[in-house]
Amino acid sequence: MPGSPIEDARSQREILRQTADMLTSRVPDTVRRLIEADACADAAIALFRDALPEYGFKLVMSPPLEGSLKSFASAWRRGDAWASFHHAASPSLALLQAAAHECARSRETALHLACCECSGLGWFVSATGTREICLHARN
Ligand SMILES: [Zn+2]
Repeated sequence: MPGSPIEDARSQREILRQTADMLTSRVPDTVRRLIEADACADAAIALFRDALPEYGFKLVMSPPLEGSLKSFASAWRRGDAWASFHHAASPSLALLQAAAHECARSRETALHLACCECSGLGWFVSATGTREICLHARN
């Protein structure tokens, strides 16, 4: 029965498993045990801490709005000018979105730093002396 509390718990467990496999090459036993115990918020926090040890996060849960709850998560690391902000139906899902976003952002930053044209700046000075936008920054 879709939408029932049992189905929602199964869905959250499956989303947690898939996100854990996506974010880490080796899912910690602690995270697996928390997922199996339906401790979704604890599992999401443990996964976040494992995948992004240099990041902090904040969870917010609103009062009921038109019969549903909204949850928010933000994530940042020291030196970031801003925190990413994500919302979802539960705190664990919001935190998973934040973790997935920050991991993708970290991978993208690492790719840009490896760019041989601009070393991650997004621009370079061409042979004619003009400032050019790097191809990776145009996409
Ligand atoms: Zn580049």
